[in-house]
Amino acid sequence: MPEIRTILVVGAGTMGNGIAHVAAQCGYSVRLVDVSADRLSVALQTIESNLARQAKKGTIADSDIPNILARITQTTDLPAAARDADIAIEAASENFDVKRSIFETLDNAAPEHCILASNTSSISITAIAATTARADRVIGMHFFNPVPVMKLCEIVRGQSTSDQTYATTFALAQALGKTPVTVQDYPGFVSNRILMPMINEAIYCLMEGVASAEDIDTVMKLGMNHPMGPLQLADFIGLDVCLAIMEVLHEGLGDDKYRPCPLLRRMVAAGLLGRKTGRGFYSY
Ligand code: NAD
Repeated sequence: MPEIRTILVVGAGTMGNGIAHVAAQCGYSVRLVDVSADRLSVALQTIESNLARQAKKGTIADSDIPNILARITQTTDLPAAARDADIAIEAASENFDVKRSIFETLDNAAPEHCILASNTSSISITAIAATTARADRVIGMHFFNPVPVMKLCEIVRGQSTSDQTYATTFALAQALGKTPVTVQDYPGFVSNRILMPMINEAIYCLMEGVASAEDIDTVMKLGMNHPMGPLQLADFIGLDVCLAIMEVLHEGLGDDKYRPCPLLRRMVAAGLLGRKTGRGFYSY
């Protein structure tokens, strides 16, 4: 199995900075790339303050912080950063054209043995792999937000992902302190295939007047022991993201049981996207 030493993280947003943080903390050499130099500097500040919080809690030593930060280099030059990568983990914007262009660049610039992974929540790993000439070395690594805290990583096998790529990536997720689960490349994988229809159904309950938003959330919190109700969670994820994932499930699985709730569509059309716009099912 090829040894992973250098991890390239493409995209320095919410997920990219978390993946870079965890990889550096686990001793890997990390190259963090974004098209925006501003996003890179914000990402580095976020990693620093999250490490400081961990040190305060006692989960790492203060003296570890400079060493962890020293393992991360940042650049906007993707081909240069890809040259010595053993694996690239793409966490750029959720848009197929953006991912296609990144994977084409990585395929040309990264060494032959380099695995190309995507953190996509909803785009087909098989379709991303088909944009490269190394579909056997393309795989999904679906982390959860916030990455330094959340233990799960869905390892998504595309149509052509090789056993060796799968085994190396699975072992890497474990080395990053995660609990990997193996899923096949179908819309929504397992996480969003189950979560999003639950959220969508909660929105139907609200639309049909079955109960108030607060009461729907209370049922799921107290009755099912969920830490957060589905409507509160939808606000946290972003209603536009929820709608986009429901569309992927509906189109990809071709079953009307995945049709997005009309109230979800209406709220997105109104710009009520949840926490990020200050209003969704609740006001913030
Ligand atoms: P984000 O918007 O916070 O960050 C995306 C970053 O990608 C931005 O900094 C942007 O400048 C950068 N970017 C755009 N085009 C680029 C390019 N060509 N090259 C390099 N960088 C580029 O998004 P996010 O929430 O971190 O999501 C990233 C990916 O992770 C998406 O595929 C998303 O579906 C997936 N994901 C998100 C979550 C979540 O909870 N946010 C959870 C799991 C998976």
